[in-house]
Order: sequence, then structure tokens, then C-alpha cells
Amino acid sequence: MRIAVLAVQGAFAEHENMLSLLGADFFEIRQKKDLEQQFDGLILPGGESTVMGKLLQELDLFDTLQAKIKEGLPVLGTCAGLILLAEKLSNDENVYFGTLPVTVRRNAYGRQLSSFYVEEEVTGIGTIPMAFIRAPYVERAGEGTEIIARVDGNIVGVRYGNQLGISFHPEVTSCTKLHQYFLEMCRLAKNCAAR
Ligand code: GLN
Repeated sequence: MRIAVLAVQGAFAEHENMLSLLGADFFEIRQKKDLEQQFDGLILPGGESTVMGKLLQELDLFDTLQAKIKEGLPVLGTCAGLILLAEKLSNDENVYFGTLPVTVRRNAYGRQLSSFYVEEEVTGIGTIPMAFIRAPYVERAGEGTEIIARVDGNIVGVRYGNQLGISFHPEVTSCTKLHQYFLEMCRLAKNCAAR
């Protein structure tokens, strides 16, 4: 099983570190020819969604990745990665992949409380440390979307089929549980496809 990490901008190295700790095989997507490789899961890291969205188009990665996500490729989007997946942004006109039926507010915690750390429960995973860095949150979760985490009443984690979208950064903590959960999703999807 191989995981692709979008590595055009943002916190991709931290995700790779988590995958290494878990002994998972991965490679980076930086340019079009990287998409020729076979992969069973995709990580969209945090960073700056506007920059990543622009680079995805400029590097001609967008259409192929969007099609794969629509076909059911397991994807983990963290922070800006969640913004890339969202069907709608409440405070921004842009839509990127638009495959996850949620409305997301960018920089939802404002400037005062732009970065913070908590420990909270995620359904199916348990209590994990969560680092929020100029984070978005989910304002509306559409039909079929499972809310898997809330902090102070706000939705910070959702799952829709094989798409996992979270507001926070598990990859900057020392806890690998969320990545382990994602790898399990990828394993199950791969086994089902093989049947
Ligand atoms: N504020 C960033 C954005 O809107 C997301 C921040 C992050 O990924 N840490 O794209």
C-alpha cells in the first residue's frame, strides 16, 4: 500500500514524518508525472489553501486528483486540506475540489485566538492532541457526513465515505493515532477494490 502526499506547499513534511513513524510507504506529489504512480490514499496537508489551489491548477494536478477523490480514493485533508475538499466556503468565493459536502469557514477563530492546542475525542479514534493554526471549522455538515470531532461546540472533524476532513494538525503533535486510522481506511478501501 502506498500513500501520496501533496507536497507543493505547506506542512507536508510533518505528515511524512507520521507516515514514517507508522512504517507506511509514501511518496510526494510535486508535479504531473508523479501522478503516474499507483497510490491507495492521498494526504492534503495544511498550509495556505489559496496558494495550494493555484498550484494544483498551474501544475495540472487538479483534474486527476479530483477525479480520483470522486472515484473513492481515500483522502485526508487537514486544515487548508479540509478547505480544498469543501463543497462551499462561507467567507470565500473559491471552491477547490468540492467533493466533501460541508460548508467551511476559513480562519474561523479570527486573529485573537488564531492558534491553540486542546485534547479532545475523535469518534473511532479516542482522545488525541489537536493543534489549531489559523484553522477553519465546519459550519454545516451535509447529508451523509459523519461529524467525528467537535471543540467548543464547533465541528472540527468530519468523515464522508473515504474523505476525512479535519480542522486541526495532528501531524505537529507526537500522536500518530489519526494517521493510523487513515491508513486503516486506505487498507479497507484497497481490500474492497481488490475483490
Ligand atoms: N488559514 C489557512 C487557509 O485558509 C489554513 C491554515 C492552515 O492550514 N494551518 O488556507
